[in-house]
Amino acid sequence: MKRISGLKLFASLFVLAALGPQVDLSYAQNPPPDHPSVTVGGQTFTPRSILARNMGTNEDQTTAFPPHKIIGNIYYVGTRTLSSFLIVTPQGNILMDSTYERNVPTIAKSVADLGFKFSDVKILLGNHAHGDHQEGDAMVKQMTGANVIVMAEDVPALKEMKPGGKEHPIDQVIHDGDKVILGGTTLVAHLTPGHTRGCTSWTTTAQEGGRTYNVLLGCSLRAPGVVPPPIAAEFDRSFKLVRTLPCDVQLGDHGAQYGMQEKYAKMKAGAPNPFIDPAHCFAEADVEEAMYHAIVAEQNAAHK
Ligand SMILES: [Zn+2]
Repeated sequence: MKRISGLKLFASLFVLAALGPQVDLSYAQNPPPDHPSVTVGGQTFTPRSILARNMGTNEDQTTAFPPHKIIGNIYYVGTRTLSSFLIVTPQGNILMDSTYERNVPTIAKSVADLGFKFSDVKILLGNHAHGDHQEGDAMVKQMTGANVIVMAEDVPALKEMKPGGKEHPIDQVIHDGDKVILGGTTLVAHLTPGHTRGCTSWTTTAQEGGRTYNVLLGCSLRAPGVVPPPIAAEFDRSFKLVRTLPCDVQLGDHGAQYGMQEKYAKMKAGAPNPFIDPAHCFAEADVEEAMYHAIVAEQNAAHK
């Protein structure tokens, strides 16, 4: 019996080792610790639980979530845990976040399932330079010819992102406050760094029922396990800045950041749109800010 268990263990380790190179090293190399913990809105979080909540299982990261209209001309075309948004205009569409390269065909299918053409994607935007959000940019560019627009501060990290050796496409570099305009839709890029140097929170508006709503496509505010002083300065600025952004509908690079699955479950014809939820626009910022301060406090205590 013992020998069988040993063999099983050996086999499991071998499988883990074999999976190793496929895992995105940007987050999986050093799984974050299970401390400190913070309680916000009656829920307790640790760095590890936040990452687990964001990413889910490998299957969650690669299985399409039912594509759906969020509000106005904004649609969800991502997986269960990795967001990808389609913004439809009369002059072609904008895609935000290609996610992992292996997800690009899944995203293309979700776009088609909604009745749109993937080849109508004219502009590809990104949320931040991590593989789970922008690794697929080169494949989207190949499939659609879209103009790839990136935030200046994320360019160095994006240039390192080369799935299968492909160069990361960069057609246009923008800066804090710049606007991306297509077919009557305007997106404003707000630099909210910390999670990456070029982490970008986008704002736009959408129409529904004769009203105009402010939509915030927020960047992750999740702090790394160790926060060096220049990154702390960025987070301090970003936590203040995000709260000044106009918001009736909050979206994020992982569905868990805005309760996507719970809100989707509440969607019903004739009922109020559950994604219009201004009261909770900064709930995710509250969690991440509390965690950031707890991490910095733990770090400072360790250095005394
Ligand atoms: Zn990230």
